[in-house]
Amino acid sequence: MQVLKFGGTSVGSPEAIAKVIDIVSAKIKQEPVIVVVSAFGGTTDALLLCGAQAASGDEEYKEQVNAITARHLNAVKQLIPVQQQSSMLSAVKKLCNEVEDLCNGIFLLGETTARTKDKLVSYGELISSQVITAAFQSRNVPVTWWDSRKKIRTDASFGNAVVDFSTTRENFTTALKGLQTPLVVMPGFIAANAAGITTTLGRGGSDYTAAIAADCVDASRLEIWTDVSGMMTADPRWVSNAKVIPSISYQEAM
Ligand code: ASP
Ligand code: MG
Repeated sequence: MQVLKFGGTSVGSPEAIAKVIDIVSAKIKQEPVIVVVSAFGGTTDALLLCGAQAASGDEEYKEQVNAITARHLNAVKQLIPVQQQSSMLSAVKKLCNEVEDLCNGIFLLGETTARTKDKLVSYGELISSQVITAAFQSRNVPVTWWDSRKKIRTDASFGNAVVDFSTTRENFTTALKGLQTPLVVMPGFIAANAAGITTTLGRGGSDYTAAIAADCVDASRLEIWTDVSGMMTADPRWVSNAKVIPSISYQEAM
């Protein structure tokens, strides 16, 4: 089993997702793969903005939710052939309606909590992972969607939850036994506590999700796919001659 993680930029556009599908389709010919995905690039920030606007009484959040909805519906339209789109379009609409309901609730209350924010941002990864799963299905790649909230158990420190590794490992082991496809897609970043309430692993947490999955299934390999070819001497967005570092110790990386 290999674990491959694709971040927000790698799933930031339907074109990029098509590349992910090619990479993964080639990999599963060698070994089963678990794919961990982030929300489509920028979605987590956009969802947090909706929540903040709603909490401060700014009705602009409605426009934001509409924009998020449109972007995800558009991804479905571009990735899935017309004849197979309808069920995914309604699934995405339903999830985006839940985002709107949640924001309406925040607006009425005029406040939000860490727990509510976790619930709100979870839709980014929930939707992206389901759209990507459907895109694999439409290309006849046998795939199973795993709900990370049912696999990764954490405490209730919303926004930065701490993983309960023994329960999490058990959950993965059980799921792996029943697995019937060479490919699993699961949302990064999100998890749940013992009561089943959604938690998150901290910003940028999808890398961590992938590492947790790799550890719990004893993966042969964990690959973090991103838009640069490795750890670099500087942020290439700011330093044009930044170079890839061929190898680095954990100490130095930290
Ligand atoms: N979507 C989450 C974030 O933007 C997690 C991740 O992408 O790793 O922080
Ligand atoms: Mg990241």
